[in-house]
Amino acid sequence: MTAAPNSAPFPPARIRAQADRRRTFAVISHPDAGKSTLTEALALHARVIGQAGAVHGKGNRRATVSDWMQMEKDRGISISSAALQFEYRDTVINLVDTPGHADFSEDTYRVLSAVDAAVMLIDAAKGLEAQTMKLFEVCRHRDIPIITFINKWDRPGQEALALLDEITERTGLRPAPLTWPVGIAGEFHGVLERASGDFIRFTRTDAGAGIAQEERLDADAAAAMIGGDWDTALEEAELLELEGQEHDQDAFLAARSTPVMFGSAVLNFGVHQLLDALVDIAPAAGPRPDQDGNPRPVEEPFSGFVFKVQAGMDANHRDRLAYIRVCSGVFERGMVVTHATTGKPFATKYAQQVFGRDREVVDTAFPGDIVGLVNASALRVGDSLYVDRKVVFPRIPTFSPEHFKVIRAKDSSKYKQFRRGIEQLDHEGVIQVLRSDLRGDQAPVLAAVGPMQFEVAEDRMVNEFNAPCTLEQLNFSLARRTTPEWVSVLSRERGVEVLSRSDGALLALFPDRWRLAGVEREHEGIVLEPLVVSA
Ligand code: GDP
Repeated sequence: MTAAPNSAPFPPARIRAQADRRRTFAVISHPDAGKSTLTEALALHARVIGQAGAVHGKGNRRATVSDWMQMEKDRGISISSAALQFEYRDTVINLVDTPGHADFSEDTYRVLSAVDAAVMLIDAAKGLEAQTMKLFEVCRHRDIPIITFINKWDRPGQEALALLDEITERTGLRPAPLTWPVGIAGEFHGVLERASGDFIRFTRTDAGAGIAQEERLDADAAAAMIGGDWDTALEEAELLELEGQEHDQDAFLAARSTPVMFGSAVLNFGVHQLLDALVDIAPAAGPRPDQDGNPRPVEEPFSGFVFKVQAGMDANHRDRLAYIRVCSGVFERGMVVTHATTGKPFATKYAQQVFGRDREVVDTAFPGDIVGLVNASALRVGDSLYVDRKVVFPRIPTFSPEHFKVIRAKDSSKYKQFRRGIEQLDHEGVIQVLRSDLRGDQAPVLAAVGPMQFEVAEDRMVNEFNAPCTLEQLNFSLARRTTPEWVSVLSRERGVEVLSRSDGALLALFPDRWRLAGVEREHEGIVLEPLVVSA
């Protein structure tokens, strides 16, 4: 093994400058709102530097789908979430992928711990949809600043003012449009740039094939060219001003206000403005607080944390890949870091960015960047790594499960393998494992945020741990955290069951919210806390 090149020539000012030019964000949206299209549109404006993992594939549009697991192949999607890195206006943008498939899993939520900002992508016709709201809740819990991009303005949709009202009512964020559409949804001429009062006129190129043509006109020229729609846009913008819906950088960074922009990803309208907003107002990679709330300055020696572990992806090499968000210092391939959980050294000679099967070696990464470490079987989600001065970053929360299945070994002679497999999956955070005396160790309950987690768990039980198993669906859809004194009360309730999770939390499971409401009505003062995010 080579010696750790920890004394490489990266003076603090250079590290700070690199951190300052990093923007690490994720797009939160409901399937079909246009996340893949927007990602492609963003990349079109920028120089793609690297791609860790891949954006999920759809049909033949993306050839970057990994084929780590057979089920990924079958479904044509990637279960992994990794990052796309590109350069724009001398800024390095890390777009961390949140799998956009209808099947949700905890990974989708966990990746949000690795970002500094989010773009909330909304379909102009549909407004805020279920999955967008779920992801938004996680952002809110973490106070992640959010830029809102209202997409598909090229086709009929809701009124812009109505969409703003919906954002206010459902998210509690104050919308502050940076641009305002000229022309109703479906008749999109361009946007009024509120800061300058200019009109940015968009002209279609061949259906999304290239960067949209943009032309900047002053207000007089816009009025002469567009007429009525321009006047309407001006009037509405005045209304926004009267309502005080102006961009306020502090309110945005504190996640109290969201800058709003309008566009069409498929026509590449407004995408350039979104990139500019990311560069100009989104937060750079800054000092990350440790578990005690003390920020670790970016120029300190290397530190980072694991936000995702992917295992058993490659049938030929049953390796384990851990994705790290770099928080401070410089990551250099080959350096030896300390694993905060065990205090043991961890050699990073296999640091790589991953392109489906093709793996590309990463040499240096700075705060804000995402690095994949292979052969990382010792690393778990939430683990911290550091050089020189110890740091432990906050634990990554677990999320409220909505799907529950009992798992049993098919073959009782394989019980040992079965137990080892369950323990490992629990430990890695692949799925939550719930137990009770009543059910016993032979039939624990698996709890998932999204149903695909069961498939991953079953696949690994069979192929990796050699423990064929059966899964049986339970009639629960909702979990609440309770306290020991309420267990006996709850256990007597029809259709309710209390189980304990490995982190010690006591979860009461309910078939639906009506049953939950009934129990709450019946027992005044009962402790049943929502688990949107539970540390
Ligand atoms: P994802 O599921 O969020 O990744 O959504 P996709 O990017 O796959 O887009 C879903 C569908 O919406 C596709 O048919 C896109 O072509 C279409 N789409 C995406 N953006 C726009 C847009 O700005 N305007 C219109 N009209 N269609 C769009």
